[in-house]
Amino acid sequence: MGPPNQERPMAAKDVMDKLVSLCKRRGFIYQSSEIYGGTGSVWDYGPLGIELKRNIKDRWWSAMVHQRDDIEGLDASILMHPRVWEASGHVEGFTDPLVECGTCHRRFRADMPEVAEGQCPVCGTKDTFSEARLFNLMFKTFMGPVEEAANQVYLRPETAQGSYVNFLNVQTAARQKVPFGIAQIGKAFRNEITPGNFIFRTREFEQMEMQFFVEPGTDEDWFEFWKAARMDWHVEMGIRKEKLRFLEHGPDELAHYAKTAFDIEYEYPFGWKEFEGIHNRTDFDLSRHQEYSKKRLEYIDTASGKRFVPYVIETAVGVDRTLLVVLCDAYHEEEVEGEQRVVLRLAPALAPLKVAVFPLVKKDGLPEIAQKLHADLRAAAIPSFYDAAGSIGRRYRRQDEAGTPWCVTVDGQTNEDGTVTVRDRDSLEQVRVPADGVLTWVRERL
Ligand code: ATP
Repeated sequence: MGPPNQERPMAAKDVMDKLVSLCKRRGFIYQSSEIYGGTGSVWDYGPLGIELKRNIKDRWWSAMVHQRDDIEGLDASILMHPRVWEASGHVEGFTDPLVECGTCHRRFRADMPEVAEGQCPVCGTKDTFSEARLFNLMFKTFMGPVEEAANQVYLRPETAQGSYVNFLNVQTAARQKVPFGIAQIGKAFRNEITPGNFIFRTREFEQMEMQFFVEPGTDEDWFEFWKAARMDWHVEMGIRKEKLRFLEHGPDELAHYAKTAFDIEYEYPFGWKEFEGIHNRTDFDLSRHQEYSKKRLEYIDTASGKRFVPYVIETAVGVDRTLLVVLCDAYHEEEVEGEQRVVLRLAPALAPLKVAVFPLVKKDGLPEIAQKLHADLRAAAIPSFYDAAGSIGRRYRRQDEAGTPWCVTVDGQTNEDGTVTVRDRDSLEQVRVPADGVLTWVRERL
């Protein structure tokens, strides 16, 4: 075992500033169009960021689609028929004059009595409202060569509607029976009034949403099932349990479509805020699409002959927001052997790089052995990084702040007995492993 690590307490603002700068320095996240001064609240993912993002999405897809036979995948288009957004309530729902509370960021109709007096009906803060404006959260654009109202379409503000309009397509093609679900990962766009907190609230983001179709009357049990399953998923990803909690939406906060809604909240450096939403959307969406499209969206149970419009239990979480939670949770500053280090304690399955390989010195054939080891790992699709520059301590520090779980060092003993040292990022423990056994050793721990 290595020496005990002394965690250093940090102020909330410091943590966010340090995280943003680490993300830029190490190639996780950059401001979009940075050389032009940046674009409002959109971000680009660099070499390490895209790996982390892909690992998060793969983990979600595996839990939702690959490990279950009652959920099917779908990739619906971003641009949909404009009537979809009339049926969903998005066109009508956001065209009132709205003000937004500067503290809790909830939006209210400007003509609500409390709001007119300057007090937020939810958090109670006074006089922090933005100016009232007619506001629709959806980005508009035009389809086809003529820019006129008839050709106006929207960039989708959620992936969910693509799953509803394809409900029968998927159900019949996949020969699913209710209860079953449709999962999607894809971009969504919202012209947020107050974006911010780095990638917490942005105007272009990615969602991982799953719509689970159930028989009315069984919805409450399924709601409880998904609530528990989603919390477990976050904990299994390595997020500290004490930083996660449920928050139920009160009757005034429920969205127009929802019967029950819970948020899973995370304690970010800037406070407890939404991480994921779990909603009982009833038969609102399918019924509305039936009404607006004039196409039947009923399910017929062939065994019992029952016909019904299913209820929907939705689980909805942002990819970018998950990435922020993962980074906040993993970021630590500590003192190790009298030296400061920044470490990202990412779960090995999520870490962008799994291994770094170092020759201790640049002689005695050590670089050649290390390069071969590195090439073998890459050939087996294990993301590995070769580094021969600087002291061994500096090389360790560089990997610690990138979140690489294991550093492999080729040293003098390698020439004698064919073993290398493997150093664990978190415990700092070092073990000797045969060089040709490193690949298996790593695989067993992913
Ligand atoms: P909020 O109240 O934070 O704006 P919401 O309740 O409108 O979010 P949903 O419509 O339930 O959010 O969206 C589901 C999930 O998508 C959220 O829990 C969050 O993880 C993610 N999400 C929503 N809006 C954004 C955004 N602007 N930027 C990043 N992620 C977002």
